[in-house]
Amino acid sequence: MDTSTVDGRARRLHAASLVFDGHCDTLLDVLEGERRLAEQSEDGHLDLPRLRAGGVDAQIFACWVGGAEAEDPLVDFLRLADTLHAEVEDSPDDAVLARCASDVERAHRKGKLACILGMEGAEPLGEDLAVLRSAYRLGLRNIGLVWGGRNAVGFGVSSEEEDEDGLSDFGRDVVREANRLGIMIDVSHLSAAGFWDVIDVTQKPIVASHSNARELYDHERNLWDDQIEALAETGGLVGVVFTFMTEDRSAATLDDVLDQIDYMGELVGPEHVGLGSDFDGIPHTPAGLEDASQMGNITGGLLERGYSDEDIAKILGGNWLRVFREVAG
Ligand SMILES: [Zn+2]
Repeated sequence: MDTSTVDGRARRLHAASLVFDGHCDTLLDVLEGERRLAEQSEDGHLDLPRLRAGGVDAQIFACWVGGAEAEDPLVDFLRLADTLHAEVEDSPDDAVLARCASDVERAHRKGKLACILGMEGAEPLGEDLAVLRSAYRLGLRNIGLVWGGRNAVGFGVSSEEEDEDGLSDFGRDVVREANRLGIMIDVSHLSAAGFWDVIDVTQKPIVASHSNARELYDHERNLWDDQIEALAETGGLVGVVFTFMTEDRSAATLDDVLDQIDYMGELVGPEHVGLGSDFDGIPHTPAGLEDASQMGNITGGLLERGYSDEDIAKILGGNWLRVFREVAG
């Protein structure tokens, strides 16, 4: 096929699809006053103009408070959540805070970015489900249980205790209460034992918002095949992260991202694969996916690899929207 035809087809398909990215760490830079969401920057990877250029329609913004080292995690979370609220309020024509799937669809129709509040590491909860409920009322719809080390919920993959320890009793309660409220449980960064405890407890689909297949690249942040299969059994998805794909992280390319999509799609079906860039959270972005404005290259790459329009639309965002609807309503 002539490349120009593929380009035109890719552009049309990408523009028509609802594109949903499951993870970024942009809020920290905004909170620190380094840049604004509304203004295109030379720094970092993601802002509203670059998301628009990349055809991204929905974005989960993680509030990352520094893991087990955090001194005042609840205040840090509230400040980051306030940053997202304030940025959205400042750009009413371009962005909305999305609390349910129909908010995302409405934003897509109006050409606005649907912003979804996430928490990366449950330290802000302390050991109190009332905080989880209050965070839900603030818009929290995705919770990464652990980031690094140990917290009241469980252990991270990089903890020295290895992957042997799972969820605490409180951690199990967090999963149940998040299920009940309508907050997606996110197992990226969680220890293997914690992962299996989540599988045991959850009644809703779960996500790994930014992780890859460990069979393809053996890194502790990636998931083994049996984990990906169990996660898919819940009805959930893995958001392919744009790192942890190559020994030299600076050498990764768009093709490595497409290889991860291929691998997991063949393993559990394209219904269980999505995007989880980790823009502004990774030191190097893949060649061809330098920042959020390049997201359309994924669509071009998938078309070149022979994917159907239907499967591409699912991978770009249809799957995230389905899981979001099943969990958050
Ligand atoms: Zn992360």
